[in-house]
Amino acid sequence: MNSEPAPRAVGHAPTASAAAATTPRRRSMLRAALTGTALIGAGLTVGASSAGATPTGATRSRPTTAQEALRELAAGNKRWRTYRERHPDESPAVRAALTSSQHPFALVLGCIDSRVPPELVFDQGLGDLMTVRSAGEVLDEAVLGSIAYGVLELDIPLVMVLGHQSCGAVKAAVQADLTGEELPAHIQYIADQIKPAIDRSKEGDARVDATIDANVALVRSRLAAEPDLAAKVDEGKLLIVGARYELTSQLVHRVA
Ligand SMILES: [Zn+2]
Repeated sequence: MNSEPAPRAVGHAPTASAAAATTPRRRSMLRAALTGTALIGAGLTVGASSAGATPTGATRSRPTTAQEALRELAAGNKRWRTYRERHPDESPAVRAALTSSQHPFALVLGCIDSRVPPELVFDQGLGDLMTVRSAGEVLDEAVLGSIAYGVLELDIPLVMVLGHQSCGAVKAAVQADLTGEELPAHIQYIADQIKPAIDRSKEGDARVDATIDANVALVRSRLAAEPDLAAKVDEGKLLIVGARYELTSQLVHRVA
C-alpha cells in the first residue's frame, strides 16, 4: 500500500485552461525547422488518430490540453501499477509517422533514478512524453533550456516535476547538510540546489521524505518563475505541476 495518507491521484488537478493556441507564423517556422515538420504538417497528430490503431486495437484520443494530459498520465500510471500496461505508440505505423515530426503531450522533469523512467511509470510510448532527467530534478541551464524547448517550440501544455520516494540525490543533500562534508565532483552542485528545500522541522528518514516533496515544490516554483513559462501559464496555455512516485505502490500523486 501507498505510505502517503490519501494521496491525490495525478489527474486530480487544479483547473487551468490550455486551449489550442493561435501560433504566430514566425514561431511555426522556427518550430518546423527544429522538429523537421513541414508547415502543412504542423497540425498533424501522432498516435491512434493518425498512425493507426494501438497494439490493443483501441483508438485513444491524444491529449491537447493540460487537463487531458493529466488524465492520460493518471490513466497510464494506473495501468502501470495494476500490471495492465498497453505499451502504446510502439507500432510500425507510429514509428513511421514519428520520422517526420513529434508532438509530445507532456513534459516530465524527473530524477535520473533507474526505478522511475517516466515512459514506464505512465505507460506511454514513442512521441508521447518529452522527458528531461537530472538527479533530484535539479535545474541548470541545460535542463531549463530543454524545458523551454518543449514548451515554447513544441507547445507542450503540461510540465510535471516528478520526484520519488527514497531519492538518493535528496538523501545525499540532506546528509551533506548535516555533516558539512563536501560531495565529490559536480555532485555538490546537486546538493546545493536541493539545500533550500531541506525540511529542518523533521529528523532522520522523515527529513529526507519531507524534503523530497519540498524539493518538487521548489523546482516547480522555480520553473513557474521563469518569465517565458510564466507568460504561457498566464495565457492559460501551460500548467506546471509537481508530483511524486511511490516505489512501494508505484502510484504517482500530486504534491505541488
Ligand atoms: Zn532520485
